[in-house]
Amino acid sequence: MASIDVTVRGAGIFGLSVAWACVARGARVRLVDPFGAGSGASGGIVGALSPHVPENWNDKKAFQRDSLLMAEEFWSRVETAGGTSAGYGRLGRLQPVSDARTLALAHDRAVGAQQLWLGQADWRVVPAVGGWAPMSPTGLLIHDTLSAHLHPRRAVSALVAALMARGVSVAADGADAGAVVWATGWRGFDALSQGRARPLGVGVKGQAVLLRHAAAGQPQLFVDGLHVIPHLDGTVAVGSTSEREFDAADTVDAQCDALLARAVAALPVLAGAEVVERWAGVRPRARSRAPMLGHWPGRPGHFVANGGFKIGFGMAPKVAEVMADLVLEGRDAVPEGFRVEASF
Ligand SMILES: Cc1cc2nc3c(=O)[nH]c(=O)nc-3n(C[C@H](O)[C@H](O)[C@H](O)COP(=O)(O)OP(=O)(O)OC[C@H]3O[C@@H](n4cnc5c(N)ncnc54)[C@H](O)[C@@H]3O)c2cc1C
Repeated sequence: MASIDVTVRGAGIFGLSVAWACVARGARVRLVDPFGAGSGASGGIVGALSPHVPENWNDKKAFQRDSLLMAEEFWSRVETAGGTSAGYGRLGRLQPVSDARTLALAHDRAVGAQQLWLGQADWRVVPAVGGWAPMSPTGLLIHDTLSAHLHPRRAVSALVAALMARGVSVAADGADAGAVVWATGWRGFDALSQGRARPLGVGVKGQAVLLRHAAAGQPQLFVDGLHVIPHLDGTVAVGSTSEREFDAADTVDAQCDALLARAVAALPVLAGAEVVERWAGVRPRARSRAPMLGHWPGRPGHFVANGGFKIGFGMAPKVAEVMADLVLEGRDAVPEGFRVEASF
């Protein structure tokens, strides 16, 4: 490669997506990750791409809506370029209507969705019928058609393959060249926080379980705070725990079994399913709780793409676009609340 326009450090979903968006615009990209692609939070199994509720609208919700609406084309292009499936499907989401108050809220949100989701997706109340539906005290469910899902680990592989097809591979090391984008996940908060009184972000561990259960083509479920994701490969993921205190980033424990028990209580059809995998990772949570994007203050030529927290896969298509706009074209469309400074 003659000369490099952009060095991306970190090959999780943020670094890979930014690298892909830059390559797609013709930039020459170097991608560096000493631990390998998907070795952080992005190497997991859950993959809910689900929206914020359509009410009390703000920049963060709009950014995420845009990203979810971009996802189908984004993943289709990645899959076509690399010939590898990301496991993406926009199959919607079901969640129980627990009581009269939730039902009234659901009707209000249905009206909100008509306007805030730009006529491209619905939020509606439907009767609970069929085997693939969570237990619902009212017999009713909320069905939204903006939610999609993918298989995180497969999505990482799909991006790696797409980049490979364009001549970019993940290197274990390499010098800075051109603009430098730091997409280094929760471990990257240390470097970002140097010289500051408080860390700009922390890691929040999560555990999840993968089951063998054929429900491909069904909507994902959100029940009792759990995401239940029917992957296209005949597995079903259940996530996740949320742990501020932890000793090791990648260990699983009895909390996984508790997740499974809650999932079976809400969805008895999962009882007895074979456990394929228990998995743990650490999410990058910025102090603002929003994605952390843009210039690295005080470090000219360096940029940050971090803070995906619980919705990094959902945000990735739009994060990639906004970062490519900024890094390659100097066009700064980062929402105020997403800037690195928002976590100072
Ligand atoms: C249990 C669990 C369930 C989740 N469920 C969902 C979900 O359903 N939907 C969703 O959208 N999101 C979900 N998430 C969140 C999502 O996984 C994260 O938001 C996302 O993976 C963060 O991506 P990232 O690229 O910023 O970080 P990471 O994936 O952690 O990647 C950072 C990379 O940087 C590398 N690195 C570190 N230091 C350096 C360095 N100095 N130089 C170069 N490279 C470096 C690491 O090796 C790593 O590969 C979940 C997370 C967990 C843990």
